[in-house]
Amino acid sequence: MKAKQKKIFTHHDLDKVKIEFKDDATAFNALKKEKFEGKGKLNCLISAKIFEVLIKENIPTHFIELENENTMIAKKIQVVPLEIVLRNIAYGSLCKQTTIKPGTRLSKPLIDIYLKNDELSDPLITKDRIELMNILSSDDLDLIINLTLKINVILKNFFKNIQLQLVDFKLEFGYDYENNILLCDEISPDNCRLWDLKQKNDTIVSLDKDRFRNDLGGLIEAYSEIHRRINDFL
Ligand code: UDP
Repeated sequence: MKAKQKKIFTHHDLDKVKIEFKDDATAFNALKKEKFEGKGKLNCLISAKIFEVLIKENIPTHFIELENENTMIAKKIQVVPLEIVLRNIAYGSLCKQTTIKPGTRLSKPLIDIYLKNDELSDPLITKDRIELMNILSSDDLDLIINLTLKINVILKNFFKNIQLQLVDFKLEFGYDYENNILLCDEISPDNCRLWDLKQKNDTIVSLDKDRFRNDLGGLIEAYSEIHRRINDFL
């Protein structure tokens, strides 16, 4: 996810920031771009609800409160330049880079870590390379991986309740001024693959950014449907 989809503003309280969610969508390292009116608002509202669910389950996050429908107030953090992807079902880049067939249910969650670096196009990175680059200590990396596994259990269950299959998702983490590790960024259909479980047969109906990546159309309708199901459930 490139930062252009969110704008960060200072807050009069220096420990906080304001994050404005924009309507822009990018894919394939920003080679593909489009604006979807209302997407920023939907992602902001969906993310806020999901952060609240996670906070109730004692996951440390940067989320404080919504300022308005497009903007959230969050703790100011120093972002760790890694994208932590967790996969329950094989899809997307995993199937382009391996011989694993799309739709394969993984016997245990797979964690893939990418280096956030535009010039290098966010390459897949190893634990040893992360230590070599002094991005994180081995203990902090373990902590982030364990948090990601815990978040997966909570989110898989949450989405199942609203008839959505959590295929995979991407998380980002950061340090607050007291050096605590917090979940940051967003949790929305922009960074989660969510398949509709209301379908009668086995056809895959994506209610996430794959609608844009794969030119399926109906992105706002899909995001609105997720927002509606979350609101009806909570
Ligand atoms: N993802 C993301 N930002 C990125 C790359 C991936 O939020 O820059 C999310 C994506 O939405 C999906 C998961 O991470 O839920 C796994 O994506 P994958 O590696 O399969 O990449 P893609 O198919 O997007 O190339």
